[in-house]
Amino acid sequence: MNRVFDYRAATSFAEALGWLAEMGSNARPLAGGTDLLVNVRAGLMTPGCVIDLKQIPEITALSFDENEGLLIGAGVTINEIIESDAVQQHYPLLAICAHQLASHQVRNRATVVGNIVNASPCADMAPPLLCLQAEIEIQGNDGARWVPCATFFTGAKQTILKPGELVSRIRVPAATKGARGGYKKLKRIQGHDLGIVGVALVLLGDTVHIAVSSAAATPVLVKPFARTDDLSTVVATVREAISPIDDVRCTKDYRLFMAETYVKRLWQEVVA
Ligand SMILES: Cc1cc2nc3c(=O)[nH]c(=O)nc-3n(C[C@H](O)[C@H](O)[C@H](O)COP(=O)(O)OP(=O)(O)OC[C@H]3O[C@@H](n4cnc5c(N)ncnc54)[C@H](O)[C@@H]3O)c2cc1C
Repeated sequence: MNRVFDYRAATSFAEALGWLAEMGSNARPLAGGTDLLVNVRAGLMTPGCVIDLKQIPEITALSFDENEGLLIGAGVTINEIIESDAVQQHYPLLAICAHQLASHQVRNRATVVGNIVNASPCADMAPPLLCLQAEIEIQGNDGARWVPCATFFTGAKQTILKPGELVSRIRVPAATKGARGGYKKLKRIQGHDLGIVGVALVLLGDTVHIAVSSAAATPVLVKPFARTDDLSTVVATVREAISPIDDVRCTKDYRLFMAETYVKRLWQEVVA
């Protein structure tokens, strides 16, 4: 069904923030549109105005610095993550997970920031960013602040973003550079599909970070483990941390079983 809305293209964050302040919840930011426009077409979102961020010059920046770590601008696409030398060299798990997200065509439009702000429990970029201790830069008319990705999600499709705020960048700290990791995602089909359950695991020094998607209202970062921890304790802790549900794509029990299976496999592959 066709939907009618105004369209404005911002050329700076200040301009976008000004329009958001003016229009309140009637306006929605647009990055790649692969969630937003699907939701608008389905009638799940009915913005009076869509504010396109793609003409803001700095949002395409994807850079790595030994002190700052990896900075991912709000316009950086999933394919740009996959193709980035810095990502492949220093944060290979990001590229692995990005490759699991949708098809090549969708990945050409879809942004990492859009994936995080959309806050789907099954967002493929959430588990690696949680494990790699990423931070999110939020801009509002009062200025900018960095928040841990671990505190960003508050519920299914819900975040700590306040009305009128934008995400400008994601930072993956230099401290997690070079971390070994893996990602396993269960889908209904072998091709591109949304995850039924996903597990990312990162080994950083002697500490193991595990995050699980599609197994609670938000992507879940489990408390860190020592690499010497007993695997049965790790599995039990992960099971306790998640709260999967029965839905049309999978049962709760199968999600629990596969989360456990993936934790065991990743532990063998990355930690043992
Ligand atoms: C066919 C198809 C298959 C898909 N498969 C997968 C999959 O396998 N795994 C997966 O994780 N996802 C999948 N997706 C979902 C989607 O591609 C991602 O969530 C995408 O990364 C969202 O990014 P975007 O740039 O398109 O965001 P948009 O659609 O532009 O925006 C998403 C939301 O974030 C808001 N927003 C965007 N940018 C900002 C900003 N800078 N500040 C504040 N708010 C902002 C928008 O208002 C909107 O609410 C799929 C989508 C499609 C259409």
